[in-house]
Formats: sequence, structure tokens, C-alpha cells
Amino acid sequence: MKRWQKVIQDNYGTPSIELVSGKGSVVKDAQGNTYLDFLAGIATNVLGHAHPAVVTAVSKQVATLGHVSNFYAHPNVLELAERLQKMTGDKSARIFFCNSGAEANEAALKLSRKTGKFKVVATQESFHGRTMGALSLTGQPSKRNPFKPLIKGIKHVPFGNSAAMKRAITKKTAMVIVEPIMGEAGVIVPPSDYLQNLRNYCDATGALLVFDCVQTGMGRTGDWFGYEYSGIKPDVITLAKGLGGGLPLGAMIAMGPAATLFAAGDHGSTFGGNPIATASALAVIKTIEREKILPHVDAVGDFLLAELALIPGVTEARGAGLLIGLTLDKPLAKAVTKRCQELGALINAPSESFIRIAPALNVSMKQAQKFVAIFAQAVKEIIHV
Ligand SMILES: *Cc1c(COP(=O)(O)O)cnc(C)c1O
Repeated sequence: MKRWQKVIQDNYGTPSIELVSGKGSVVKDAQGNTYLDFLAGIATNVLGHAHPAVVTAVSKQVATLGHVSNFYAHPNVLELAERLQKMTGDKSARIFFCNSGAEANEAALKLSRKTGKFKVVATQESFHGRTMGALSLTGQPSKRNPFKPLIKGIKHVPFGNSAAMKRAITKKTAMVIVEPIMGEAGVIVPPSDYLQNLRNYCDATGALLVFDCVQTGMGRTGDWFGYEYSGIKPDVITLAKGLGGGLPLGAMIAMGPAATLFAAGDHGSTFGGNPIATASALAVIKTIEREKILPHVDAVGDFLLAELALIPGVTEARGAGLLIGLTLDKPLAKAVTKRCQELGALINAPSESFIRIAPALNVSMKQAQKFVAIFAQAVKEIIHV
């Protein structure tokens, strides 16, 4: 920890443990302690650590051709783009690859400027990334305020409130961006007709509807994309986190007329769609399909939601699939998280009021049971001493 402070900037604070290896949903620290990993690299390691399919695909690729840039095509980029297009169910879908969620949302923001308009409607408490464009979309004052002035023309309305959206979206709106379920803000699920309403307002005004599926995409909610339950389709989907299965990879998928807004030279990324990261993504998608992991996500997610809600001290358990938010009856989420770590389970408290869990999608039912026991013990000790 002293070494960290001597060389790393203070933006993350200093971590309390150093992780050195992992297998599936178990990680080991430098002292040899093991932990159940129920954060999975912030919802990125969808197949857990060191999955043989990922290890093989990445090792083979790095030994064959590491990086070529987008001046050249590569079979992995093409195959992954074809897979993603198929998942959208829309042959008009065209994909731009980048390396992170912030970059995917930056790409969406730039795409929306090509409509000739610049106004944007986003939601309060949303999280869309930390770069200046993505931060301008983000609706959390604590993250925004130190970096003002941000990009002009972006209005934030309360999440889940259709009437507020209807008032804010006009013919001058270039795009509307929402998370299908707000992740960082506490795993907040909107009313069931919210996404459908947004589709109607955008259709009526010509605004692009962008779903930030960076956290809710790639099987996290039991569907490939976190909006699928709504039955409607956005004009743009942004992805990252789970897409590369632990390697840095993001994507901005545009459909319909939005798919042709970018012209040659409008945007780019040196590493975006890198052969190694895309090899990992393909291995992840094929494994999820072959091992029928999406129904498993629903089963384990339902189990966790039901069991965690029963723990005294937990006032609400909510979410979809394996993205779960827990509210505690005292603002002690960070202390509970710390105690969980000492008892052998890694989770995350984005604020004092709630806990987020997002294990690998192939976490076993037995590991889920073990986690519930550890979490119940931590809550009991910290909240009901
Ligand atoms: C994590 C996240 C981002 C930002 O992704 P980075 O890879 O950290 O830039 C954007 N949107 C959502 C919904 C996220 O959860």
C-alpha cells in the first residue's frame, strides 16, 4: 500500500488488498487469502477468471497477430461485428469498436452531432463515463462539479419519470441517452413502460434514442442487452464492461438511419477492435451460447434476489439477472463491504446507501449460497451488533 501511494495518483484511494491470481469466481491475494469474487472486475469478467476458452483464444491470437489498427480488416473484428449485428436482430446495425464505456458514449455523442442538432437529454444520477463528453452526459453532481464547465446543451431529468422526459425532448433534441437499468446509481429499475415511452417521444421528435448498455449488456441481465424486456429497439446501443470478457473493449452500435451518420474520417480509435480483445469477446459469446449461460443467469439471479431480500437489515433487493442492488436499513454499506472482504467475499458499495453485486455469469449456485451466508454474517455483525 505504501508502494501504491508512492507511484499511483490518488483518484481511486488506496486499495486494501492486492490480487494476484484467480480461477472462475475465486481470486487470491498476495498473502494467499482467497475470496469469492462477486464484483467480477466491475461486471466485466463474465466467465470469471482464467476461463480456458478465453485463455486459449487470447494466447493463440497474441502469438499470431497482436495489433494492426483499423487501416486493415481482421477476421475477429468482422466475426464479432456480425455476431453483434445478429444479436440486435437488425441487419442495418453497424458497429464502431473502441476500448471502454466512456469511449462508446463519446462515439454516440459525436454521432448525434451528425444529425445537425446538439441538444441532449440524459437522466439525473446516471453514469456514462469520465471523459469530458461522457462526463457531460453523466448525471451525478459529485463527479461533474469539479470539472465544470462541461459540454453545453445537455439537460438532466429524473430517471424513470416519463412525463419529465416528454417535456424535455423537443424537435431540437439530437439524442436521448439512458441506462436501461441505472448501474452505478444503485441498480435502479425504471417503470415497465419507461423505455417504450422514450421510444415514442423520440419517434415523434426525430431524436436518437441511445441505450447505454455498458453495464447491463452482454448477458448481465439474462438477455444480451439490458433493454430487451421492453420489446422496443433503440437507435444506438453502447457496450463495454462485459463485452471483452475482462479485456478492454467497447462498441457503439447504430441502427437504421443512425447507422450511416458517420462518414469516413469522422471518428476513430487506434486500439478499437484490437484482434486480441475481439478474440476474447468471441470466446465469451460462443461459450455463453454453447453452455446456455443466459438461463443460468436468470436462475442464480432469482435465487440471490430472493435470499438476499430475506436478510434482516436488507430493506430492498432489486435488479435483473446478475446485476443486483441492495439497500441497507443503515447507511453502512462501506463497512458491510469491508467486513465481507474480511470474511472472504468481494462486493462494492458505490455509496453508503447501497451495495452492488455483479458476479461472473457462470458463478455456480453453490458459490451463490456461500456468498449469501457470508453477506448475511457481515450485515448481522455491522448493522445488528
Ligand atoms: C462503467 C460504465 C461506463 C463507463 O465505462 P468505462 O469503461 O469505465 O469508461 C459507462 N456507462 C455505464 C452504464 C457504466 O456502467
